[in-house]
Amino acid sequence: MATITVFEAGYCTHPGCMVLPGAGLKACRFPARAYLIETPQGRWLWDTGYASHFLDSTRDGVFAWYRRMTPVHFDAKEAVAAQLRARGLQAKDLSAVILSHLHGDHIAGLRDLQGVPTWLSGAGWAATRSLRGIRALRKAFVPGLIPPDFESSVIAVEGFNRIALPAELAPFTEAYEAPGADGELLIVELPGHAAGHLGAFVATAQGWVLLASDAAWTPANYRERIGPSRLAHTIMDDARAYHDTLDRLHQLDQRGGARIWLTHEGAL
Ligand SMILES: [Zn+2]
Repeated sequence: MATITVFEAGYCTHPGCMVLPGAGLKACRFPARAYLIETPQGRWLWDTGYASHFLDSTRDGVFAWYRRMTPVHFDAKEAVAAQLRARGLQAKDLSAVILSHLHGDHIAGLRDLQGVPTWLSGAGWAATRSLRGIRALRKAFVPGLIPPDFESSVIAVEGFNRIALPAELAPFTEAYEAPGADGELLIVELPGHAAGHLGAFVATAQGWVLLASDAAWTPANYRERIGPSRLAHTIMDDARAYHDTLDRLHQLDQRGGARIWLTHEGAL
């Protein structure tokens, strides 16, 4: 069985009503989580959270708007690489880093993990990799966070075996099987929030956990099927797909097939 260790690598603040209409204008704290998934066969890092590179890359120019819109609080000891080190682990101990999507708060630690294979949505990477300036900002993509020689570390999950999911995970029916994880780490497409947005079902001793990344920002989004504000829709890749994904999370939650963990939940 797999274990999941939760890291909080900094947080940002924005008004509660951004993620849930009616939640008010009070600034809420949205932790940027990363997860260490360990099985007897390997060790994977799911996303990276913030890192000092985010502050460096958004200090001025067009990307300073990113920080203005979502003020970031980050301490160097919260960097995922530092938290791995505190557990006696180095980048080379990871089988892969898996990116749920390419928003800055999910990839900022990549420069601290150079040389580690990076699994991501090939379609998402193809749609994002050449974006620069305002076009990148509108997709919350900060090109400066991508390390040199990143392309040589990239492995598209679309190349993995596609398998049928157990009936208890309905309405989710298919996933990409993570190589070397013995069926305990299954990567699923959760489209809408960003190009190629991914989640993962992880088999733990307490049952299935769905790392749902940013498919919702707070459990109320899928429990009550209320999407975020119109303003939050402006960075969304595909609003119709987002609401379809939200609906599937709702059904999964109602049936109790898996516990759903969201990257930023906890503020509301
Ligand atoms: Zn995101």
